[in-house]
Amino acid sequence: AHVGMEITPHGQHETGLYSKAHDIYSESRLTLMSDLREALQNDQTELYYQPKACLSSGRIVGLEALIRWRHPERGAVCPSDFIPLAEETGVVTQLTRWAIERGARDLAPLLAADPELSVSINISARDLASDALRKHIETSLARHKVNARQLTLELTETATMEDPVIGLEALQSLAGTGLRVSIDDFGSGYSSLSYLKRLPATEIKLDRSLLLDVDDSDGSKVIVQTSINMAHNLGYEVVAEGVEKEETIRLLGAMGCDKIQGFWLCHPLPLHELKAWLKEYRASSLAVSTASTRPQ
Ligand code: C2E
Ligand code: MG
Ligand code: MG
Ligand code: MG
Repeated sequence: AHVGMEITPHGQHETGLYSKAHDIYSESRLTLMSDLREALQNDQTELYYQPKACLSSGRIVGLEALIRWRHPERGAVCPSDFIPLAEETGVVTQLTRWAIERGARDLAPLLAADPELSVSINISARDLASDALRKHIETSLARHKVNARQLTLELTETATMEDPVIGLEALQSLAGTGLRVSIDDFGSGYSSLSYLKRLPATEIKLDRSLLLDVDDSDGSKVIVQTSINMAHNLGYEVVAEGVEKEETIRLLGAMGCDKIQGFWLCHPLPLHELKAWLKEYRASSLAVSTASTRPQ
């Protein structure tokens, strides 16, 4: 097939890439990327949405868009099985554009009805290498009449550190348009704490791995509490990701964590199920705040 030619991001580096990362460009992976491009083009991918709640009020303040792809032969493919490859090959640029356009289109009515609600889109460091993302965002937001304040870009903490100059400038330019920036997976890898304070972010998301044994381990408690305090002192709001247990919610509430996301609250859902869930949640007395503020 002619697959290899199509997916190489920059023609002039073709030979270099092939020799440096032969593994990454094996035939089956090339085919996967070619299939992904096609799926994105034909809208065969979908966004699921996972709600994020404010711990003190129980209100739903955000919806994180997570891509879902059902491959015609392979079945459902996990994001962790194709996102890293999409980043390596540059296909992620197309993915990000698709996600912003689809997210704005899907959620425009919900966002218009609730000015406190924001949609979060995961982006890649690679998206920050040019001005193209900003233009694309402005176009999508204008098309669907979504306020920039209601868009949050989630960037993995290591991403801006790979190329601090490009990453920071592009982020500042984006933040200047009014949208919000969130630092995803905080604590999952190596991070430069001194760099953290220079990011134009409003939120950090504590990685699930930090919270795994926070209920039983004193060491984990210290790390989580210290991370929350540091983030607050730097002016960031704190989201705990991957919260699965009610005990964790209580503990996070006591530690001053602002927001939570995770299976305990809700799994990522397709749009129509999300709408039904939101209605039920708003009508029910089972708001998160009941769990977090109840005296122990
Ligand atoms: P992430 O941005 O940190 O997203 C959170 C991941 O944790 C999601 O996995 C979500 O389904 C999962 N999750 C949420 N709550 C829980 C929980 O309580 N327990 C457990 N075990 N998991 C939970 P998913 O959807 O498989 O995505 C994995 C990663 O792939 C994401 O991590 C993100 O980095 C990337 N990704 C997903 N969609 C997109 C996208 O549209 N664009 C880009 N660039 N990356 C994406
Ligand atoms: Mg995320
Ligand atoms: Mg992420
Ligand atoms: Mg994360």
